[in-house]
Amino acid sequence: MTRVFIGLGSNLADPAAQLASAVQALKQLPGSRWAGLSSLYTSDSILAGQPRYTNAVAALDTELAPLALLDALQAIENAQGRVRTERWGPRTLDLDILLYGDQVIDEPRLHVPHREMQARAFVLYPLAELVPEAFVFSDGRTLRALLQACPFTGLERLAAPR
Ligand code: AMP
Repeated sequence: MTRVFIGLGSNLADPAAQLASAVQALKQLPGSRWAGLSSLYTSDSILAGQPRYTNAVAALDTELAPLALLDALQAIENAQGRVRTERWGPRTLDLDILLYGDQVIDEPRLHVPHREMQARAFVLYPLAELVPEAFVFSDGRTLRALLQACPFTGLERLAAPR
């Protein structure tokens, strides 16, 4: 089993409900054991004119190989009606593999650690609820240092962990 962290995001069609139903689907992934969910956080979209986002991070222990996990996450996205219109467009559900153990993966379909996560408050703050403060990324940077460089400003914490 490998501990993985999944980023969840939605800014369409009742985002909190989208995340709740994604959690139910993640809990049923084959070869995997649920390990917890952060609080939900809302924030304005990085892109002007889009609805506010709701984000959270989930932890799982899984036997699924990285690409099999990505396939499973994309099946959940598709099942929840995500329509890929524009690359950075609004989405009913976005699931990203943030971390897969301490592996560094650089493949056409999969980059882990997820490329933009280290500068995104809506990823780092929920992740910080699930890992120790002393957590060190594969490139040697600490979560503490990244949090210091990435202010909480603009994030709203919605709900306590379930
Ligand atoms: P997005 O529009 O943000 O959901 O990006 C989807 C694309 O990113 C997919 O085609 C994936 O193959 C690719 N991708 C690369 N790295 C990752 C990752 N760590 N987690 C999820 N998708 C990824």
